[in-house]
Amino acid sequence: MPQATTTRSGRMQPAGSRLIKFFFGEELPFVSHGRGVFVYDTDGRRYLDGCSGAVTANLGHSDPEILRALHEQAERITFAHRGTFHSEQSEALAERLGAMTGYPYVFLCNSGSEAVETALRLTLQYWRERGEPNRSQFASHAVSYHGATLGGLSLSGHPQRRRVAEALLHEFNELTPPYAYRFAEGRDDAEFTELLVNHTAEVLDAHGPAAAGVVVEPVGGAAGGAITPPDGYLQALAGLCRERGLPLIADEVMTGMGRTGMMLASQHWDVRPDLVVLGKGMGAGYAPVSAVLVSEEIIDAIAAGTASVTNGHTYGGNPLGSAVALAVLEAIESRGLVANAAERGKQLRAGLEALARRHEVIGEVRGLGLLQGLELVSDRVARSPGAPIGSLTRAATFAARDQGLLVYPATGGINNAILVAPPLTVTAEEIDLLLELLDASFTS
Ligand code: PLP
Repeated sequence: MPQATTTRSGRMQPAGSRLIKFFFGEELPFVSHGRGVFVYDTDGRRYLDGCSGAVTANLGHSDPEILRALHEQAERITFAHRGTFHSEQSEALAERLGAMTGYPYVFLCNSGSEAVETALRLTLQYWRERGEPNRSQFASHAVSYHGATLGGLSLSGHPQRRRVAEALLHEFNELTPPYAYRFAEGRDDAEFTELLVNHTAEVLDAHGPAAAGVVVEPVGGAAGGAITPPDGYLQALAGLCRERGLPLIADEVMTGMGRTGMMLASQHWDVRPDLVVLGKGMGAGYAPVSAVLVSEEIIDAIAAGTASVTNGHTYGGNPLGSAVALAVLEAIESRGLVANAAERGKQLRAGLEALARRHEVIGEVRGLGLLQGLELVSDRVARSPGAPIGSLTRAATFAARDQGLLVYPATGGINNAILVAPPLTVTAEEIDLLLELLDASFTS
């Protein structure tokens, strides 16, 4: 039995659940239930979920169609394993997801972290089959988040996260190029693109025969707060990878599944990465399910090879998660949610820009579709936070919560940002309400 403890609000909770204090050491509200874009705490208070949980509940909460799919599948069978028997749902999911994204091979996993790790492993396997087993290092952006496995942590430039990974992985991923922080640098798009691409090229050159691939979030989410690259950057990065024969791995755990107004964010720039990682919005908060989309070249090399590597996971592609993800894909198509994300995203963006004109604390508005970020500053002219890292994020997150609005604190250890990312089902009226609550939170 876990020990019970009393919180400052006087509520009893099991000792383990004190982990919920991990953000800023504060207590979070206990959620009781959710309906659509709203969640309710155990005291009956309503919050507009302006960040879809952790940018996951893309269809909002308690969606009747997804719940029906979940219940129906739960009553038929919940588990199948590739080593014993297949499930029709996982086959159907892989086929449909492949058709909707244009990839021939879909590998199903259970979480974003697991899928990132799988993408790294598939890439290492690809190199082994190509006769270059020493290629083991990945370039990634310093301000990024790629999950909590050792491989994922080693891709992060966040000093604490990296340290954890480095304790075990001495040779892995020493290539993290500093992703110059565009807003703080105040550079124009072309100049910034050139700087980033040249930097990545230098890093890849320096590591020559050890470089295995480049991992990128097309829009940097959890760590930086919707850091959006200038037009031309992702194409240039893809070109660089092509020239050097290195796989480009897009971590679309946060940006995929229609969130940015395209099924995959890379499609905004007509880039087709060699591997794409999906998570979060795939199960939309109803089931843990994720995937790696794999291109022909990578899968053909692996399939033709002899190296035996286990990529399977006991719960990977389980029928329950697969049935939920299939229902999510059906909802995305039949309800036109990608187009809604684009349309409502424009409304949200315009509203946030209007707020930036009224509130000095908003230094920059950025993002794509329904993945928008605000960079918070205390000195807008100097483009400087002028306050400890995370302190403005913390203040804004709690002020919004006091108004009945949930936003996501995004701070990769270098900045002060929040993410505003309501469900893809959000209506025009709900966006208006979100903006009203946010306005009030900056005024209070
Ligand atoms: N990759 C990105 C871009 C993410 O944003 C996240 C989670 O925030 C992950 C990977 C890890 O996903 P999970 O938390 O499902 O393991």
